[in-house]
Amino acid sequence: MQALVFTADNQLEITEVPNPEVREDDVLVAVKAVGICGSDVEGYLGKTGRRVPPLIMGHELAGKVKTAPKSSGLEPGDTVTVHPKLFCGQCSFCTSGRTNICPHGKFLGVMHENGGLAEFVAVPARYVYRVNPAVPSEHACLAEPLAVVTHAAALLPPTVLQQAQQILIVGGGPIGLLLLQVLRSMVATPITVSDLLPTRRQLALSLGAKSVFDPASDSITPAFDVVFEAVGAAASAAQSLDALQLGGNTVWIGNAQKHIEINMQAIVTRELTVHGSFLFTETDFQAALKLLESGSLQLSPLITVKHGLEHGPDLFKALATPRQQAITKAVLTL
Ligand SMILES: [Zn+2]
Ligand SMILES: [Zn+2]
Repeated sequence: MQALVFTADNQLEITEVPNPEVREDDVLVAVKAVGICGSDVEGYLGKTGRRVPPLIMGHELAGKVKTAPKSSGLEPGDTVTVHPKLFCGQCSFCTSGRTNICPHGKFLGVMHENGGLAEFVAVPARYVYRVNPAVPSEHACLAEPLAVVTHAAALLPPTVLQQAQQILIVGGGPIGLLLLQVLRSMVATPITVSDLLPTRRQLALSLGAKSVFDPASDSITPAFDVVFEAVGAAASAAQSLDALQLGGNTVWIGNAQKHIEINMQAIVTRELTVHGSFLFTETDFQAALKLLESGSLQLSPLITVKHGLEHGPDLFKALATPRQQAITKAVLTL
């Protein structure tokens, strides 16, 4: 089969590779669409060490079932998407429902585990979900980033979210703009979106943000009860704290920079709460699928779709220099 293989830092090649090995409980999926994640781009640049060449990346995927074990209830031709965190299902985290932080699992398209940027991928049936075929593949592949968002939105105690007078989302990338839409479906609270790029601020307004904020020129006031951080860098993390009211809550989703300097005194003396939000559980994934199938989200304005794996190398190059182009979320279709 053809695959887009990450061969070295800053290098992707289209090559012929053997079809994946299909084990007894595996579903063989003919891939139809793959979203390219910010974490894939960081890995491609060699920044995180979480993509080890040679590797087929791709953890946001949708496709058609080619073969499936009988017990899975899936049939050839079914439209499916994949829960890419292959949690162990046995440890204390998994059995208490926190599969997202299972320390034993693998993750498709990460480290050494081949993912979906290829014609086929084999995935244990437990992690394969049927999707209503009315959802186009280029939207169905967004179940994964959308599940990141439904997890983050469900992380705060419900009263904290419901009683918030003002909510800020730091970062108007794919996660921030999906989160904007999910939060709007949950609460009527006015939501502000902060982003350096004018195109993304514009997009946020068109998707229902009450106001937008340019962190390079607008000055921050500590007016928000709840702040979501969807960038993962020092400046944006600092902004998520500076924008909080006394006693406020921030949810950190972004995960680009490892070590940053932080104003610990502000957290202590203003009694701020910082929640880390990582991946998603099966429940979050199901919630994301439900939202996708409801058709209530505006996904088309967020995505740039290219057909054919051969566009992969150029797309990664473009995504690695985000300020020079207008792509919010790239999806490759096959
Ligand atoms: Zn992702
Ligand atoms: Zn586990």
